[in-house]
Amino acid sequence: MKIAVIGAGSAGLAALRHCTSGTYEIVCYEKTDQTGGTWVYREETGLDRYGLRIHTSMYKNLRTNLPKEVMGYPDYLVPDSPDSYLTRTQILEFLNSYCDHFNLRQYIRFLHNVELVEPSKVMVCNGHYFEPSVPNLKGQETFQGQQLHSHDYRVPDIFTDKIVVVLGAGPSGMDLALEISGKAKRVILSHHLKDPIGTIFPENVVQKPDIKEVTEHDVVFEDGSKEPVDVLFYCTGYKYSFPFLSEQCGIRVDSNMVTPLWKHLVSIENPTLALVGLPFYVCAFSMFDLQVRFLLQYWSGKKDFPSKANMLKEEAEELENRKKEGLGKKHFHLMGFKQAHYYDDLANTAGITPLPPVLTKLHNESSTRFLDDLVHYRESRYRIIDDYNFIQL
Ligand code: FAD
Repeated sequence: MKIAVIGAGSAGLAALRHCTSGTYEIVCYEKTDQTGGTWVYREETGLDRYGLRIHTSMYKNLRTNLPKEVMGYPDYLVPDSPDSYLTRTQILEFLNSYCDHFNLRQYIRFLHNVELVEPSKVMVCNGHYFEPSVPNLKGQETFQGQQLHSHDYRVPDIFTDKIVVVLGAGPSGMDLALEISGKAKRVILSHHLKDPIGTIFPENVVQKPDIKEVTEHDVVFEDGSKEPVDVLFYCTGYKYSFPFLSEQCGIRVDSNMVTPLWKHLVSIENPTLALVGLPFYVCAFSMFDLQVRFLLQYWSGKKDFPSKANMLKEEAEELENRKKEGLGKKHFHLMGFKQAHYYDDLANTAGITPLPPVLTKLHNESSTRFLDDLVHYRESRYRIIDDYNFIQL
């Protein structure tokens, strides 16, 4: 059986790791010259020398927002070190060591950009933090200051002494508001959360509601207040994008919900096509591993896919349930506090080894600490003591 993997980031590497047992003929196409995907820092932004958009969204000073104890693969953990929250360089080193440990480099065709996929046995691992989502704001085109998306952000110095509106209070918006506050004159974190974020920000960071309107030099917020502004900094997330999938593959992106998919993973129209790594707010590398093991149970014939009607029904029911919780299509792939259920469902359905529950517990603990104390949460250090428990050191 021939399998192609698109992308040699952390998801593509997990795919390779499980397909190299000798049972499959495997090849991975990677458009850059390196493994590690978004963890490969590049100073330049925009287009690369081949005219392709720079893939990585990594910024220079990034430290992980999850402890290393939940950032490993189930069979290859991040090595012990004093800190729990690592630098981007340490994570990239870890991914390269995973690649070398399992001898995966031999299967990767670097500098191979996939342009078209017809239905065939393919694991799509192209990431989902490269196609910026930028809101339409009234008056945006008249604004005379700078506009930048976090995809193209690298270093805080560009904001020295500027008044910056950070749009969006997701993990990137929060982290970057903090990071640039060290250089910017004033940082205005604009978001539509019901209540102000409870964490203590540095003194030059204030919170405001959504933007109502932009003029040449000012921003008017929904509460009627108006501020002079130098930079609109969009930390407004990304769109799922699979520019290489032909229409026959049968995948649509509808309000940022990738559909029709069984278990956020398998194309219902062509179950030999799988999109690995779509769920977010997850223990990413472990989830990729689980998704790949799940897939191989079906592709190897050990398990049979349910009927198309049943897969569609399952997807529709999940969407319905999420809508009842106030989560629309845009948040269809959000896991967060639902992640344990998702992991257990994959493991139980395919009859494979589950992920240890401690991962989810520690992920949730870290997310809560992030919201409570943005400035200091990375000082915490953890140790996992068994499949169910961790301790804080
Ligand atoms: P990517 O890492 O994006 O890899 C995709 C690969 O596919 C790339 O190498 C790309 O070049 C290749 N590719 C794309 N299109 C093609 C094509 N057409 N042909 C060939 N190759 C192609 N997660 C955490 O767990 N903890 C964190 O602290 C954390 N911080 C983050 C900070 C930032 C700024 C960002 C952007 C993400 C962060 N994440 C974090 C999430 C991170 O994206 C995941 O951890 C994980 O790296 C995603 O891996 P991936 O393989 O799915 O995608």
